[in-house]
Amino acid sequence: MIARADNYLQKLCVEIPSRRVGSAGNRAATDFFAARVASFGFHVETPTFECIDWECDGVRLSANGAAFDAFASPYSLGCRVSAPLVAVSTVEELEAAEISGAVVLLRGEIAKEQLMPKNFAFYNPDEHKQIIALLEAKKPRAIIAATTRNPDLVGAMYPFALIEDGDFDIPSVFMTEDEGARLARYVGKLISLESRAARIPSSGCNVIARKGARQDRRVVLFAHIDAHIGSPGASDNASGVVALLLLAELLADYRGDLGIEIVAMNGEDYYAASGENQYVARNAGKFDEIVLGINLDDIGYHKGAVAYSLYDCPAEIARAIRNAFSAHSDLIEGPQWYQSDHGLFLMNQVPALAISSENLAELMGEITHTPKDRPEIVDATKLVTAATALRDLLSRLNHAR
Ligand SMILES: [Zn+2]
Repeated sequence: MIARADNYLQKLCVEIPSRRVGSAGNRAATDFFAARVASFGFHVETPTFECIDWECDGVRLSANGAAFDAFASPYSLGCRVSAPLVAVSTVEELEAAEISGAVVLLRGEIAKEQLMPKNFAFYNPDEHKQIIALLEAKKPRAIIAATTRNPDLVGAMYPFALIEDGDFDIPSVFMTEDEGARLARYVGKLISLESRAARIPSSGCNVIARKGARQDRRVVLFAHIDAHIGSPGASDNASGVVALLLLAELLADYRGDLGIEIVAMNGEDYYAASGENQYVARNAGKFDEIVLGINLDDIGYHKGAVAYSLYDCPAEIARAIRNAFSAHSDLIEGPQWYQSDHGLFLMNQVPALAISSENLAELMGEITHTPKDRPEIVDATKLVTAATALRDLLSRLNHAR
């Protein structure tokens, strides 16, 4: 089973080089998952949604003969603009600035953290909404964001894209703080920006696999199958997907009463969270059928144990989880975290269990969302542990009642 876990990781992260939503690799991954779980006797559905894929063939930025390094913001529209440069570093300055028809350089305080996509429903601070609304009202021709090193940002990406939003239609690029400081000397001058980025209409799907006599009393298991644009996504989250495939195999002969629903969720690392929104819409009014929601994300990091955490679990479910998991020495109870799909269960009053890695902070700070998230950093034996422990838990919950 360890060898199979390694094969699955290779398939999802190497043979398929990108699983970003809307890409051919994303479709290959959902096809693969659907075929595997069907082979273990699950009933499989693949409801589709519309989305966009995105490509960029380079950015050129110059001012008065000087060239600057910049990158297109993922999911941004392309542009070819020659316009005066205005620089802004706070929300107050943005409110006062005349930027209509100009290219606006955002740097400093206003560019300190990535802005949430404008239609992202699950979490969206007012300040982010205000910045986006001001930009849309004032209509600059393009945006250049000079972003800082932010140790709290996933993957410690530098520079990071201030905007990553396929629903925001002002073209934007991003650059380092140093390039931003150099470019700021040209405020008031004409600059030229060409970004050869394009949005490509596409589609994707969730994969929903079911077993068990009663779907009105079921345990739901999520692992997001999409990967962040530019990352092979081994830990995030081929690891969780592989554990679900191993679990499906362990449940090949399952004949229990308790319903089991395994979901390859498609959108955790996509600006529009399309799979999550689809899941919520399809289950509206039916969340009380879910006894327990389980989310696997970033599990099996080679350093440290697999860590789990409980959210709003009734005493008997919490006991079943701890009893099933305590038999596995490389599975420990860790701190709570909220930045993944189990939030969706909590918002719908469903008790949740999250499975991740003990050294999640290190993983998130250095590797997640970057090209470094390769199969070498995932220990396949831990994926087998997680699958086996989950099989034990499901068997306990099936015999409970
Ligand atoms: Zn993830």
